[in-house]
Amino acid sequence: MNPDLERLMALQAADREILRIRQEIAALPKRISDVEAKLNSAHEAVEQAKARIKAGESARRKFEADIQAAQQKISKYRDQSLEVKTNEQYKALLAEIGFAEQSIRQTEDSILETMLESEEQEKRLRAAESELKTQSAFIEREKAEVRSRTEQDERELAEWSARRDGLRAQINPDVVSHYDRVARLRGTGVAEVRDGKCSACNVLLRPQELQEALAGSSVMTCSSCTRILVAVEMPPLPAPRHRPGTEASA
Ligand SMILES: [Zn+2]
Repeated sequence: MNPDLERLMALQAADREILRIRQEIAALPKRISDVEAKLNSAHEAVEQAKARIKAGESARRKFEADIQAAQQKISKYRDQSLEVKTNEQYKALLAEIGFAEQSIRQTEDSILETMLESEEQEKRLRAAESELKTQSAFIEREKAEVRSRTEQDERELAEWSARRDGLRAQINPDVVSHYDRVARLRGTGVAEVRDGKCSACNVLLRPQELQEALAGSSVMTCSSCTRILVAVEMPPLPAPRHRPGTEASA
């Protein structure tokens, strides 16, 4: 087999792995910003609950002052009622007392409402504080994890890049240029021949093309997609590093 064909397969595998690692490195900061967003929203929820609890307390103090004022009015009206001269004046004071008593009852209802609201906000505050604690602990772990993953990716990227550069230097420059052009256009520059077809675009090879491809003595391209055709299933060259669970070559 033409040695360039074997190197092209390895080059394509290296290019694919380089792309995967670059994409992973680019996506890693988002993991931190996601946790930061959760942390911020937990922080906001804590502040909001605290502000509502405070507002509830100040509303309650105002209501209590209103009740006190109404009670003072009532006792003043009662004193006045002892000294009134006419029945009309007496009735008017009784009406004022009734009005003040009614406003006390309404204010007491409002106090009850603010207390129920306070209980609700206390619950929210506890939940938000617990979420804040969880996310604060999580972000440190996540930052450390992202840092170490990035470092590992950078190391692997350097290794794959060196390997790719080495392969490119060994391949005929015209072939490399063709590979680059097609890869830029179509994502991949090499296609295997399977069942007499180009496995990338599925176009059948003419008998003579197939024969040539199977012989593998020269670099030939698919007449349809122009990818470089490789007819033999070749074991991939040993990878510089192999992360468990990932396929280093395609
Ligand atoms: Zn093709």
